[in-house]
Order: sequence, then C-alpha cells, then structure tokens
Amino acid sequence: MLNCEQAARLASEGLDRPLTLKERLALRFHTLMCRGCRRYRRHLEILRRISRAYVKEDERQA
Ligand SMILES: [Zn+2]
Repeated sequence: MLNCEQAARLASEGLDRPLTLKERLALRFHTLMCRGCRRYRRHLEILRRISRAYVKEDERQA
C-alpha cells in the first residue's frame, strides 16, 4: 500500500511518463481510499491542462 507521499509522486510522474501496470494499480487503489490524493490528482490534471494551453499559445505566436 502506498502512502500519500508515494501516491503524489506517482501521480505527478504519471503525467510525464507512462506508469507501469503495477504503479497504476497501486495509485488507483490509493486514490480510491484517500480523498486527499483524489483531490490532489484532479488538481494536477487541471494545472497540466492549463499549462498545455499556454504552450500551444506560445507555439502559435512563434
Ligand atoms: Zn493519499
């Protein structure tokens, strides 16, 4: 079982590289049990989407 620190790290790594099946399951299991990490993950995804939108904007201007 992951602790919150490990889950947070996996969630953020998962945005940059594909997680292994084992990592995905461990993270999924933890976020099912842990409300704090569910919120954290959602937050990460929102931030990621916003920063991608900015990158696209930059490419258009270049
Ligand atoms: Zn947690």
